[in-house]
Amino acid sequence: MKLLEGKNVIITGASRGIGTGIARVFAEHGANVAFTYSSSEAPALALEKELTEKGVKAKAYKSNAASFQESEALVAQVLEDFGGIDVLINNAGITKDNLLMRMGEADFDDVIEINLKSVFNMTKAVQRTLLKQRKGSIINMSSVVGVKGNAGQANYAASKAGIIGFTKSIALELGSRNIRCNAIAPGFIETEMTEKLDEKVVQSWREGIPLKRGGTPEDIANACLFLASDMSSYITGHVLNVNGGMMT
Ligand code: NAP
Repeated sequence: MKLLEGKNVIITGASRGIGTGIARVFAEHGANVAFTYSSSEAPALALEKELTEKGVKAKAYKSNAASFQESEALVAQVLEDFGGIDVLINNAGITKDNLLMRMGEADFDDVIEINLKSVFNMTKAVQRTLLKQRKGSIINMSSVVGVKGNAGQANYAASKAGIIGFTKSIALELGSRNIRCNAIAPGFIETEMTEKLDEKVVQSWREGIPLKRGGTPEDIANACLFLASDMSSYITGHVLNVNGGMMT
């Protein structure tokens, strides 16, 4: 059964990692996928081609999610190209880790702007469209770190905890219009980014997880699929932990 047949979806930051996984699963479920990237043009164009070959409409857009103006322009362009928006996934994110002692002001500001302000920018930009159609699902990518904190990631944890507060507030504001807003808090997800880490360290992380493995982009994509589809039509303001039992 295709759960998103004919739905138009925007995913920020889908040129690699979790975003690419979401785009693939969504296209397999019949969604038309508009997605953004920051600088990885070649992988973005390759993904656009791959998704189009699955028989859906797909388009890559270079757009900085941290920019209010670029987010507004992106949504206007997607509306022109796709004719509507049903689902927004705020996935774009970065890390600039350091202990507070060594964290510069720019490291804090960049992470807050790209991870948190982007969620405001994109949600504002799609709001009018979703309100008019009295239906929509917004999914924001938080993190286990936003739920529990992490030494060396004060900037990142603050951005991801901020996303949770934003998500719950929007769920309260827009619920009466049948617009749902939920967050996903992934645990340790193995992507190209984590491939660069020391295998011994990664193995020790895996052993500490009750399900004894890191998550995959598909694990997160399947949770997004549920929250984007009508299968979750009575769920809003929720933070879904997808972490192999890490918090248990
Ligand atoms: P990733 O592999 O580093 O990919 C990040 C994506 O965001 C890329 O497509 C990147 O585009 C895009 N991006 C970066 N800055 C952007 C900007 N200013 N505007 C638009 N797009 C931008 O990251 P990931 O591991 O897939 O993580 C995806 C999300 O899940 C992030 O929000 C992250 O915080 C969250 N998360 C990840 C994990 C994990 O273990 N991996 C755990 C918890 C939460 P370019 O390729 O062009 O740079």
